[in-house]
Amino acid sequence: MGFLTGKKFLITGLASERSISWGVAQAMQREGAELALTYQTEKLRPRVEKLAEKCGANIVLPCDVSADEEINGLFDKLGNSWTELDGVIHAIAFVNRRALEGDYVENTSRKDFNVAHEISSYSFTALARAGREMMQGRGAMVTMSYLGAERAMPNYNVMGVAKASLEANVRYMANSLGPDGIRVNAVSAGPIRTLAASGITDFKKMIDEVEKNAPMRRNVTIEDVGNTTAFLCSDLAAGITGEVLYVDSGYHILGMNPL
Ligand code: NAD
Repeated sequence: MGFLTGKKFLITGLASERSISWGVAQAMQREGAELALTYQTEKLRPRVEKLAEKCGANIVLPCDVSADEEINGLFDKLGNSWTELDGVIHAIAFVNRRALEGDYVENTSRKDFNVAHEISSYSFTALARAGREMMQGRGAMVTMSYLGAERAMPNYNVMGVAKASLEANVRYMANSLGPDGIRVNAVSAGPIRTLAASGITDFKKMIDEVEKNAPMRRNVTIEDVGNTTAFLCSDLAAGITGEVLYVDSGYHILGMNPL
């Protein structure tokens, strides 16, 4: 029996077998959870349906978080199959590629700033509001952040500002939802090669830097992030909320890189 046996989770953000949320789905399935998956567009649907078969998820639903109707519709449809929900995984971020390079001040338009914040941060609040009733007294929500929320990283630019918003969002949501028995946390993951990451200019340099200098001298995997996320959603983490937990081989503790 796994530590999520008897629990039901909604997982967003699946795009491929490289997606962080695929690492989460696999860990949660292994620990005995029942899963429902979402896909952003019709183009992604067949891929997500295949992943659903692999992880035994028999609910697959559309949800583009840029539309409130889709978010509300998601929970309406989920309510046809499940009366209660033990948690939501938010593994969604987006910004126009042109904003992920060069000088932050020069390259950040009002539109790109707004889109990055709406899709990568606000959507977590919107999912919480729509799912609040189903999660009463039992929910655990987890989102995915990155160190660029706290430090100015090359090329991460406005996505770092959106991740800072997301981490503040975690704290405000935790305080708002705590009295309802719903916990809210973030995992701050080290760089991992995924579709979203391929949009960041010089991403390979970030990977190489972690491998060379992180205390553990290796990059993290979607399995590492999946296991920690499963733990945060379990009763083993019943006393943890409003937290940002680093899964980055210890990279965030470094002051100066070794000379
Ligand atoms: P990914 O490309 O596999 O997943 C990103 C997902 O976001 C996709 O499934 C995409 O469909 C979804 N998405 C984008 N816009 C959406 C919208 N409007 N509505 C619904 N879904 C939408 O990449 P990933 O790296 O697995 O990203 C998952 C999360 O992890 C993101 O928040 C990302 O910022 C975060 N993260 C990634 C890394 C990394 O190095 N890969 C590190 C730290 C944090």
